[in-house]
Amino acid sequence: MNRLTILGATGSIGVSTLEVVARHPDRFEVIALTGHRRIDLLEAQCRQFSPRYAVVVGATEASRLTHALRGHKTEVLFGPEALADVAALPEVDTVMAAIVGAAGLQPTLAAVRAGKKVLLANKEALVMAGGLFMAEVRRSGAVLLPIDSEHNAVFQSLPSGKILGAGVERFLLTASGGPFRTASLERMASVTPDEACAHPQWVMGRKISVDSATMMNKGLEVIEARWLFDMPAERIDVVIHPQSIIHSLVQYVDGSVLAQMGNPDMRTPIAHALAWPERIASGVAPLDLFQVAQLNFERPDLTRFPCLALAYQALSMGGNAATLLNAANEVAVAAFLSGELTFLRIAEVIQSVLETVPSAPLMTLEDVLAADTLARRLAQEQLS
Ligand code: NAD
Ligand code: MG
Repeated sequence: MNRLTILGATGSIGVSTLEVVARHPDRFEVIALTGHRRIDLLEAQCRQFSPRYAVVVGATEASRLTHALRGHKTEVLFGPEALADVAALPEVDTVMAAIVGAAGLQPTLAAVRAGKKVLLANKEALVMAGGLFMAEVRRSGAVLLPIDSEHNAVFQSLPSGKILGAGVERFLLTASGGPFRTASLERMASVTPDEACAHPQWVMGRKISVDSATMMNKGLEVIEARWLFDMPAERIDVVIHPQSIIHSLVQYVDGSVLAQMGNPDMRTPIAHALAWPERIASGVAPLDLFQVAQLNFERPDLTRFPCLALAYQALSMGGNAATLLNAANEVAVAAFLSGELTFLRIAEVIQSVLETVPSAPLMTLEDVLAADTLARRLAQEQLS
């Protein structure tokens, strides 16, 4: 039995994870589930999977859930420390890190420090803490497996997940281009949150959907790939591939290029990482190449998608830059979603924060959190 904690169980990745888990009751046992606002869904998940613990962020949500689960075996906990605690429980083998944004950093790090098998969907945690995060992985011996479809594809296309000495030349990360792939800047100036969240290929949470629309998602993924695989940014390319059938590629020195393909459905990378190094059914329909018929590729347009260039810039600046980029982006995206900021201003807010804060090294987790807080304050000032 593989015993699981799912951080962010009520989100898009969390729900897909539980769908895969439900197909294999002989393999997986759910020990803890966490959520934030969707208490009804968390209650239903607790009734279906009977975890030992359910964790929410706030006291109000905790008392609602406790009331709803009266007489049920699940114990309800709340607060940031409880989130970290259920990620590090001795009886847990595997932690799915699927909280969105910087809020996921501390519980994900707790799982890493406890030496768990960590399935990483929460890319922001790695983007903001980069080298420190990977140093903790090495120190604790945690097994870090990528859920992000691109990184999962790279992992699958590498010989036994290794790079050094394997003749790897480049990574080609594919990107759908999002809902505004062919839109003009004039059109993009007036897009609404619902238009930005209507992704042509993937159904996802609203924050990552906006990131896909600005292509900051791909920028965050370049940074994620740099840390996960210790690959310099100069050897990570982005290729627009509107069909989202090839999830990424690895180019070797002999001219070989290996790709991982499949229908765009997160249950594939989730099932891959859950069962690794074995394979299990995910519920995803088999790929029908005759129906796909065509695979297209385009160069990204950095003029219409400046967020992608900002992410490469943050990587070359090093130090605190990626932390600032991530925090400013979270503030700007939240402001766009609540109608306080126009779509094209998202990149401007991030750029201004990157230009304002002096570069500094990140030596400790406190440095990371301080850079995050500072960038949020400066980004917030840009809104008013
Ligand atoms: P989502 O918004 O659907 O779900 C987010 C989850 O995080 C929810 O369970 C929510 O309760 C929890 N959460 C939100 N704020 C929280 C807080 N302050 N404290 C504790 N918990 C909180 O997001 P998602 O689309 O499932 O994405 C989750 C992560 O996975 C993101 O980092 C995203 O970039 C990454 N990811 C998602 C997809 C996808 O297809 N959805 C693909 C690749 C990577
Ligand atoms: Mg991705």
